[in-house]
Amino acid sequence: MPKKNNPKKMRSLTVLTPENYFQFECHQNLDCFTRCCRNITIFLTPYDILRMKNGLNILSEDFLADYTMTMIGDTGLPVVVLKMRNDAEKSCPFVTSRGCTIYPHRPWSCRIYPLQPESTKITEKAGKEYYSVLDVPFCLGLEADRVLTLSEWIEEQGIAIYQEMEAPFKTITTNESLMKNKITNKKIQEMFYMACFDSDRFRRFVMESTFLDRFEVEPEVVEKIKEDDVELYHFAIRWLEYGLLGQHALKVKTDVIEAKKQELKIK
Ligand code: SF4
Ligand code: SF4
Repeated sequence: MPKKNNPKKMRSLTVLTPENYFQFECHQNLDCFTRCCRNITIFLTPYDILRMKNGLNILSEDFLADYTMTMIGDTGLPVVVLKMRNDAEKSCPFVTSRGCTIYPHRPWSCRIYPLQPESTKITEKAGKEYYSVLDVPFCLGLEADRVLTLSEWIEEQGIAIYQEMEAPFKTITTNESLMKNKITNKKIQEMFYMACFDSDRFRRFVMESTFLDRFEVEPEVVEKIKEDDVELYHFAIRWLEYGLLGQHALKVKTDVIEAKKQELKIK
């Protein structure tokens, strides 16, 4: 049985556990409808981009060129942000008076709203999730009578798959060694950008370059990544674990190593 709390008090400074209640309901009859889809910064995860570009039925490079901006984060790795329209309200490119035109494919940030994560590395390690309710003065949904638990919200908004997909990406971007030694090498930044965000270009890179001649990749994985974007994403993570973190997630072919030794005259 979920713990009862007072949802009226569940605002920004209150941390919610999965069983705690908060109050919220969003619908198009509210005066604030779509007001939250303007002048906002939405960081996009690789899975956000994968879902959005597939929902729009376009290639990743076209999605990135038309709808995003790229910046360099604290670790030196690129971060991708949804580009707002150049109108007076700086509105989201996908908002209309009838609502979100990509609703089934909307990014994680739009799903989790009006909540925000409050987890730390320690709570995450312990497998605990905490969130707080954003205090947005214009959001009338926060005044609604509807009460639901954090768990119910996560389920209703289809958030679990986004969390599952983000986990390996987060492991890379929060890696301690990367945090300490900021990446400034442009080639590495570009490699990370392509693998994480520009999946269709990454697929061509794997399938059409000498990549498969150089690395041992399981034949069933090669078959899957030809078509399946989620498999390709997992493969991209393996490549980054190998290339960025020095982990044994991929293996160079023996004949390639031997040829390199010959070239360098190493016995
Ligand atoms: S209720 Fe809140 S989330 Fe819904 S449209 Fe209004 S401002 Fe946006
Ligand atoms: S993607 Fe959809 S829900 Fe998110 S800000 Fe844009 S219009 Fe709003």
